[in-house]
Amino acid sequence: MSNLRMTVVVENTAGRLGLLAEHGLSFWIELGSQKVLFDTGQGKVLSGNAHRLAIRLELVDAVILSHGHYDHTGGLSYVLRSARRPRVYSHPAAFEPKYARSADGSGRGIGMPFLSEGDVREQSELIWTEAPTEVGEGLMLTGPVPRRTDFEDTGGAFFADKDCAQPDDLVDDQAAFLETSAGTVVILGCAHAGVINTLRYVQTLTKDRPIHTVIGGMHLVSAGPERLNRTVDEFRRLNVRRLLPCHCTGPAAVARLWHEFPAECEACPTGTVIEVEG
Ligand SMILES: [Zn+2]
Ligand SMILES: [Zn+2]
Repeated sequence: MSNLRMTVVVENTAGRLGLLAEHGLSFWIELGSQKVLFDTGQGKVLSGNAHRLAIRLELVDAVILSHGHYDHTGGLSYVLRSARRPRVYSHPAAFEPKYARSADGSGRGIGMPFLSEGDVREQSELIWTEAPTEVGEGLMLTGPVPRRTDFEDTGGAFFADKDCAQPDDLVDDQAAFLETSAGTVVILGCAHAGVINTLRYVQTLTKDRPIHTVIGGMHLVSAGPERLNRTVDEFRRLNVRRLLPCHCTGPAAVARLWHEFPAECEACPTGTVIEVEG
């Protein structure tokens, strides 16, 4: 099995001189001969951070879109312009219009900017992930995550239309995972399907192997006490060894997780490198 090396290229916080933060997420994954970009941030800091981190985005073999929101897909147009026809893994619903309801009740567009499905097809090999899919070297995508828990929702007021009449269940939401000798590593975008739904589904796809590391956005930013309590209970039951909640997890949920799991939690600002033996 290949060793995994993952660098945080875009995150809401920045960890060292010369790196910039934005509301968004992007991880550079090196796994054997594969170079994979998991999400692309909004696109405002991706290329500068990559340059600073000596990451050559033009060499990317595969780009994963965890879902269609702008803070994960905004950098895709830059990546496709600079790379040589990489594979792009996405659920088709990521290309559909997406809105969030503002406090005044109006809808604001938060879908994929700049690119249509046709644009992406022109510059890449687009692969739909409507079921679990292997990206390469054992790195897997969940595809749509079954929503089984009774305490998790998408974590926000998300809609498919500007009038905010049609709810958006974010069926495009997916996570990546890799089985290693220590256990499974799970990489989340926003976990709009629910972080516990996602982890349970990964376990059903891996013959119940233990989950070792969880990194990414958990979208608990609007979670109430009941959801937070039950999420903590489930993390305890799952016995996750490394926990790197970031991006849209939300300050209250991050504080709670650090309080409950002080030995397991780690920060992962832009610039963080995570290495896991294969
Ligand atoms: Zn999102
Ligand atoms: Zn997000």
